[in-house]
Amino acid sequence: MKGIKEFVLIGLGRFGSSVASHLHSMGYEVLAIDIDEKRVQKNKDFCTHVVQADATDEQTLRALGVANFEVAIVSIGHDMQASILVALLLKDLGIPRVIAKASSDVHGKVLKRIGVDRVIFPERDMAIKLANHLAIDNIIDYLEITPDVSIVEVSATPEIQGQTLRELDIRAKYDVNIVALRRGVTEVLVPPGPDEVIRPGDILIALATNENVRRWQEATRSSRGNR
Ligand code: ATP
Repeated sequence: MKGIKEFVLIGLGRFGSSVASHLHSMGYEVLAIDIDEKRVQKNKDFCTHVVQADATDEQTLRALGVANFEVAIVSIGHDMQASILVALLLKDLGIPRVIAKASSDVHGKVLKRIGVDRVIFPERDMAIKLANHLAIDNIIDYLEITPDVSIVEVSATPEIQGQTLRELDIRAKYDVNIVALRRGVTEVLVPPGPDEVIRPGDILIALATNENVRRWQEATRSSRGNR
């Protein structure tokens, strides 16, 4: 979102209003549009401008200056027809980045086909994220780069404490890159040297595919059993 300061968001359901209020609280300008006056009233303090309008109407979108925005978010779930039509109009108006929420596979496919730049499935994405977290119990935090690649924070378990990164050889064995080592509250080694000895309380920050992180953690866990 480098350099982008203004967002237009259509549909103030639970998802849309959360995105809008979060962007607004981070200091971005948000123009939100919803057909339902009650939703407009409910969100008027959480967006820069909130307008009651039918976003499937091209003239309305033009009159609101929507074409000047760089990023648009379509958050209409239930009314698939409205969601698709709005996304199509936004692409036709020339908005470079249109992000739309899909409520089903078919919905997602159509949105992709009409040129939506990013389709999100909030419930499914959250479920996958949670499942990935739960599957690997040492993971402290997790940043998804793509659905398959993440940056993960892993606590240094007793099996790896006292060893150097060179000895552990995590990259060669599992294709997992340790990009940083967090030590205590303020110290972060970026990148950590190969002869850095892992200490209790250290946190390893790794960049890898989810599958390789899982392989690495499973191997560490089973070495625990062999000790
Ligand atoms: P959630 O609340 O979980 O995010 P959802 O996205 O399915 O669910 P919907 O009930 O589909 O939520 O509502 C999305 C919002 O989009 C509603 O506030 C609705 O009034 C608004 N909306 C629907 N059609 C249009 C339209 N043509 N123009 C503008 N807003 C619309």
